[in-house]
Amino acid sequence: MFLKGKTALVTGSTSGIGLACAQALAMEGANLVINGFGDAGAIETERAALEASSGAGAIYSGADLTKPDAIEAMMKEAAARFGGIDILINNAGMQHVAPIDEFPVAKWDMIIALNLTAAFHTVRLALPYMKQQGWGRIITTASAHSLVASPNKSAYVAAKHGILGMTKTVALEVAQQGITANCISPGYVWTPLVENQIPDTMKARGLTREQVMNDVLLAAQPTKQFVTSDQVAAMALFLCGDAAAQITGTNMVIDGGWTAA
Ligand code: NAD
Repeated sequence: MFLKGKTALVTGSTSGIGLACAQALAMEGANLVINGFGDAGAIETERAALEASSGAGAIYSGADLTKPDAIEAMMKEAAARFGGIDILINNAGMQHVAPIDEFPVAKWDMIIALNLTAAFHTVRLALPYMKQQGWGRIITTASAHSLVASPNKSAYVAAKHGILGMTKTVALEVAQQGITANCISPGYVWTPLVENQIPDTMKARGLTREQVMNDVLLAAQPTKQFVTSDQVAAMALFLCGDAAAQITGTNMVIDGGWTAA
């Protein structure tokens, strides 16, 4: 339990990758602050399970991360309960798919707010405590879209390219203070979000489940296999360890070969 006594905040941890990261950190004894939307009962079950596996504390914040005031309140709540944040995982994110000249302005603003600006706020608010401790880990779930583009995803690609740039900048600013900042960039990850898209796509395009997975979802992924949330969480855990102390300002790509092509 190498994270005993540390506190981790994982944004967007009520589902998918964030949930897997929270579970992996709890297994190593970290206090957890979880965040995201969803069914209150399911979230409470998750929170209690995290405490059971860590033997430490876990609290939930329902902060809407598109709202800076809500982020500030979440960070204050975390500090009040645990003293501060040692490990920050910026993971909450959303997608909208439309050509740029038809892209709804409100969707653009929301995606930039959630996928990019929210991390500016969490980082600026978590850093003073990390600096005081002389130790910190900032990990951001970016995407293969931090490196390459796909049509119709202008806001998402802009935000993910941007978050990689911000991460590199933070890494340089705190390089001598025991704090690392890195992105993890998955290709297509098998999350409930992806699973839920399959029936609709089968219907809309008249395809089999296999065709949707291979020809639509995994078209860009040479291994023709999904990344799993647990594989992303394992990388996050690795970045928290001493073996990763000299890994900073970089992009840990887990994309089944997508960006090699
Ligand atoms: P998901 O939809 O399963 O989880 C998203 C989480 O963010 C949920 O907990 C949700 O409640 C939360 N969230 C959404 N809007 C929020 C808001 N306004 N405030 C606070 N929380 C909010 O998605 P996922 O697939 O696990 O994605 C997590 C991250 O991984 C995202 O940043 C996404 O861009 C990135 N990513 C996902 C994939 C993939 O294929 N699934 C690939 C590359 C990168």
